[in-house]
This record gives sequence, C-alpha cells and structure tokens, in this order.
Amino acid sequence: MILVNKVKCLDCNEVIASHSNYGKTNCSCGATWCAGGADIVLRGGNYEEMITYDTDDFEIIRERFERGTKGKNFDEPVTRWVVLKDINDEWLDAIIVYENQMNRKNPYLYLFHEEIKYRKILRRDNIITDLLE
Ligand SMILES: [Zn+2]
Repeated sequence: MILVNKVKCLDCNEVIASHSNYGKTNCSCGATWCAGGADIVLRGGNYEEMITYDTDDFEIIRERFERGTKGKNFDEPVTRWVVLKDINDEWLDAIIVYENQMNRKNPYLYLFHEEIKYRKILRRDNIITDLLE
C-alpha cells in the first residue's frame, strides 16, 4: 500500500506531496509536479522520488507521512500538512479518538498507534523530550 506520494524538486529542493487521486501539486520554482494519491502516481520534472510504502521502515514513514490539520474540531478545510513525527502528543491522541469514532476503517489509523509506540521507545532511550508540550 502506498502511504506517501511525494517528490523532492532537485531545482528548488522543495518537497511536494499529492494527497488525493485527483490532486496535483507544483513546487514553487515550477520545475516539478506530483499528482495522484494512494492509487495513482504521476510526476514530472527534475525530482528525487520519495514514494513511501507501508513496507518501508517506520523511521522513514514517520518523516514522510502527513496529516492535514482541520482545526480544533476537525471541521475546517485542510490548511496545512504536518509529518507524523512532528504531530504533538495531544494531537496524536485526538486523531486516534476521532478516527475510532468517525472513520474506524481508515487504513492509516495503525500509523498513529505505531507512532505512539515508537515515541515510547525513543523516550525510554532519552532520544526525544521535546514533543510533550
Ligand atoms: Zn522546484
């Protein structure tokens, strides 16, 4: 299963993602584009491939998989995408509660549980302390 449809433009170094099969994103310099979602993958320009599958290492997945912010009540249009590793603990918990209530069959739900487990390991080993706020 494709988790992330992303490329990095080698002209401007911007990383761009397409989040739906009908989406298309251009980098800011215009040299590279990325389109499609989990089923369709299209791109063009001068790019480094960053497509990511559920079989990739979780360390890579958490740096690339993105969740859109939909405001505090999850009811606003997505304005910003945040990679899994940068989602704070409170938001991570809220996502799990929300998805369990509203979208139990979300195929990506397990990733948020994986992230919690991963952070426990990092904290046990004192690698991260800064995501608690
Ligand atoms: Zn570019």
